[in-house]
Order: sequence, then structure tokens, then C-alpha cells
Amino acid sequence: MTVKLRNDLEAIPSYRQGKAPAAADREMYKVSSNENPHAPLPSVVSAIAATAGTVNRYPETAAAQLTQRLADLFGADTSQIVLGAGSVESLSQLIRATSGPGDEVLFAWRSFEAYPMLVRAAGATPVTVPLAAGHRHDLDAMLAAITPATRLVIVCNPNNPTGTVVPDAEIRRFVQGVPSDVVVLIDEAYYQFNSDSPAPGGVDLFHEFPNVVVAHTFSKAYGLAGVRVGYALAAERITAAMRKVAVPFGVTGLAQSAALASLDAELELEQRVSGLIAGRERIAGALAAAGWTLPTSRTNFLWFPLGDDTVAAAKVFDEHGLVVRPFPGEGLRVTIAEDPANDRILTAARELAERGLTGGLFSPQQASPVLH
Ligand SMILES: *Cc1c(COP(=O)(O)O)cnc(C)c1O
Repeated sequence: MTVKLRNDLEAIPSYRQGKAPAAADREMYKVSSNENPHAPLPSVVSAIAATAGTVNRYPETAAAQLTQRLADLFGADTSQIVLGAGSVESLSQLIRATSGPGDEVLFAWRSFEAYPMLVRAAGATPVTVPLAAGHRHDLDAMLAAITPATRLVIVCNPNNPTGTVVPDAEIRRFVQGVPSDVVVLIDEAYYQFNSDSPAPGGVDLFHEFPNVVVAHTFSKAYGLAGVRVGYALAAERITAAMRKVAVPFGVTGLAQSAALASLDAELELEQRVSGLIAGRERIAGALAAAGWTLPTSRTNFLWFPLGDDTVAAAKVFDEHGLVVRPFPGEGLRVTIAEDPANDRILTAARELAERGLTGGLFSPQQASPVLH
């Protein structure tokens, strides 16, 4: 006899990590997981090293210092901050604190791949609303999709993998339309890359609406994907519920000190983010000049909605030394990284155009004039 497992697990897709190049292959750039290409700052490495000698002890669950710093940063009370092992754990905590069997969790699609898995893992039902024209959230359709079974609505802003932004005023109108007993999660994993409005707009809404939760991470702009630390801002009633379902000791002492050291080095890290934004604008501008029409990205990645050409196009990127993230039949996502990697996006795109693998996104007649 085989062991008995949960019947509903069949329905949960397994998380696919962004592909890594073969270890020996120095010619390849891994631009499949929206990681920060910069190695941690020396000050951050030192902070991690300084904590290394204490790992025989469990971490401090309250993470008092980091929690206080974050509370000060966002004008919140420490009771309104809950840390997680990456903001994926914050999402998981919130989903399990709000939703179980029979409950619905609403989000746009395509959006972050982890949402449907985490919702199903909680035994709840994912309900998706297709993105609107321009690969943006269709907030009116999302409002219309709320039912008495809806417990949680997730808005990923800017959206992964399309890179698009919902302006603060539109989210505000949306939040006003959501019943006040339904939680709204604004996932701002990429807010620092939103050059239109780099302040995390969700935080204002969190201060105003007790049903709004905001999730942030140290993985992307702060370059700490490997130590696993993120957090949510939420009303105390919600954070208390999230703490009940959290994995005990999920955020290590190493992660706490790395996060604190990163907050100390905010200026240096902001410069790195500015560099990545400049790289994005350079590549997006060159692609537009060549005749590509892509959604406007306000993140550290570009979305090529190539439809049926996606898989063949991913191979072309691969041949040019870029391991990208394909979503077969829909599109592929390329992380903005160091300049030589970014340059390869342009050479790969040139070959896609030559080979007709453009998903209808390319029209040389529409090329914007190149300014010399
Ligand atoms: C990367 C990402 C996260 C957080 O990742 P962690 O490494 O778990 O902090 C959350 N939401 C979205 C949309 C992301 O892309």
C-alpha cells in the first residue's frame, strides 16, 4: 500500500525555479529569476559573517531590531509588521490566515506564478481575472469578480511577469470598491524599480484602509534573494493571524542582520537600482527604436508577449547566452542585469526579427527614429 496524501494536491503545480545555466558555463547569464546581478555589498557580507558565529542558537522570533527599523521607515507600529522567509512566505501566511476550503482568492492572470500554488496549498480556490489590454490589471473586472466567498484579492503592482503598473489613483478607487471585510494584498516586490512613482503607494493605502496589506521583499532591489527575508504591513488583527500560521523561526538571524545592514546602506543600494533602471530604459528604448512594441516595464525585467513563438524565441535567447523565463504560449520574461547581458537582449531580438519569431510585436515601419 502507498501512503495516503491529500487528495487535492494533484491540482497544485510545482514551482519551477528560473533555469540556471550549467555550472561550468561562464558564457551564460541567468536572467530568468529577476535577481539582482550585483553581489552583496561588503558591509552586508560583514554583517552576515558577524552573525555566523551564533547560528547554534535559534533566531530571535520577534526580530525586534529589524521590525522597529521597518516600522519607523513606514510610520507603522511594530505590531503592524510581520516578517517572512521572503515575501513569498508573507503571501503564504496571509493566504492561510484568510482562506481555507470553500474560500476564494482573486488575482489577475497572468501574474506571479506562486499565487495559484499557495492558494491551492491552503485548500482555497484561486479565481483569476485576465489582464486587460496593455497587459495591465483589469481592476473593474476584478471588482466584478468578487463574490461572498472572496476572502482575499491580490494586486501585484508592478505586475510580474508583465512589468506593468496600476497607478496609485486607480488602486485607491479599487480599494474603495472592495467590501471592507475582504482583504486586499498589494504585492510591491518591485516598487523600487517603478521610476514613475518609486514610493510604495500601497503603504498610504495600508495607513488608510484596515483591510489593505502590503508585501515587500529584500530579494530584488536589495539583492538578498539567497537569505530569504520579506515582510508585510497589515493591521494588527491581520498580523496576529499571520503570526499564527507562520513557520516558527522562519527568518534566520543571518537574514535579519543582512536586512538591517542593507537598510544602513540604502543610498548605495539605491544607486544600484538606478543603474538597473537606466539599463532597462536603454534596452527598452533601443527595442522600440528598432520596431518592437513591448509593454512598458516599471520593474527590473522586460516582458515579450510572443504567444506561440515563445518557446522558439527562448531558444534564440539561449543561443545568445541568456537563460530567460519562458511561459509557453504566452511570452517570456528577461531580467535586466549587467550591461553585457543587457546588450545580448538586443542581439537576440535582432535575430528574432530576422527569423520572424516576433509574435506580431515587431514592425520595422513603426521603428521610432533613432536620435544620434
Ligand atoms: C520575487 C517576488 C516576490 C518575493 O520573493 P521572495 O524572494 O520570497 O521575497 C513576491 N512577489 C513577486 C511578484 C515576486 O516577483
